[in-house]
Amino acid sequence: MKDLKPLFDNIDITRRPMVIAGPCSAETEQQVLDTAMALAANGVKIFRAGVWKPRTKPGGFEGVGVEALAWLRRVKETTGMLVATEVATKAHVDAAIDHGIDLLWIGARTSANPFAMQEVADAIAARDCDIPVLVKNPVNPDLELWIGALERLYNAGIHRLGAIHRGFSAYGKHLYRNMPQWHIPIELRRRVANLPVLNDPSHIGGKRELIASISQQALDMGFDGFIIESHCDPDQAWSDKGQQVTPEVLDFILSTLVIRDSTSTTESLQQLRKQIDNLDNELLEILNKRMRVACEIGQYKKEHRMPVVQAGRYDDLMSLRVKQAQEMGMSPDFMRKVLSAIHEESVRRQLEILNRL
Ligand code: PEP
Ligand code: MN
Repeated sequence: MKDLKPLFDNIDITRRPMVIAGPCSAETEQQVLDTAMALAANGVKIFRAGVWKPRTKPGGFEGVGVEALAWLRRVKETTGMLVATEVATKAHVDAAIDHGIDLLWIGARTSANPFAMQEVADAIAARDCDIPVLVKNPVNPDLELWIGALERLYNAGIHRLGAIHRGFSAYGKHLYRNMPQWHIPIELRRRVANLPVLNDPSHIGGKRELIASISQQALDMGFDGFIIESHCDPDQAWSDKGQQVTPEVLDFILSTLVIRDSTSTTESLQQLRKQIDNLDNELLEILNKRMRVACEIGQYKKEHRMPVVQAGRYDDLMSLRVKQAQEMGMSPDFMRKVLSAIHEESVRRQLEILNRL
């Protein structure tokens, strides 16, 4: 993707961070205009609203559809903001462009589907209108699929491209709605030079309380900006209400962010510390997963009247891992301490299960 063009000629996105904000979904004309006017008054230049909503199960609110595109046109007329919406089919693309939408984004479920991506790429190219397109990461953590989606657009002649990091699905309950897996967008930026990458803290966190900290992490890692869900009355939102903030709260969050000088010499230290924080997060997730498996083993042992500690198994595990650690350059003593602490906690949890009535 050698000839990428800037998203817009008249907006300087090198002045970080670029901000796209607006509700998850366009619900009513009033809600759209109230939200847009408040955002515009706070200096937001690009408004987002979902018109067609991909829902996990049928029966949920699937978006207002074409009718809402006229509301977005009114946003443009009354506030001067640019407007953005999600497209997933040729019909969406045509309707959005017919209604003067300025920027399109491809959702995470669509970017995971090469057939849909090709259809959308061909439909946009056929309109020959040089519209910018942002591609969210696919729901599954697959960098090649993400790059493939961008390439389908690029090869169709769409060169105003950007990416949105919205996190990746994981099974079970986690702190995040979608795991950030920061190394994936970082690798994307390494692989595709000059591609603007925005962060979507709303869909990563799934909770409004997490927006500020995720955004700061993204800024610290050099992301170009954000797409953040903002609603004039978040608690009454028809979709994703837990992760939306009022325009006022959004303004406050943005005002707290520290934009680091990317030329300063401490930048690399900050990046390294962020890497450590991210690795610690992963370490905790893995430890937690290991504890859960240990509990399942505890349950099995209880049902089969087996003793909790089987010395042979522990000795084998210890010597195997200590040797492995040594080969990797870590001290055997350190590995023994780590493993025995983990083992001690597993045993304690298994004993708890055994003693439960
Ligand atoms: C959205 O932006 O409201 C949306 C549906 O996002 P995603 O595709 O990231 O789930
Ligand atoms: Mn949403």
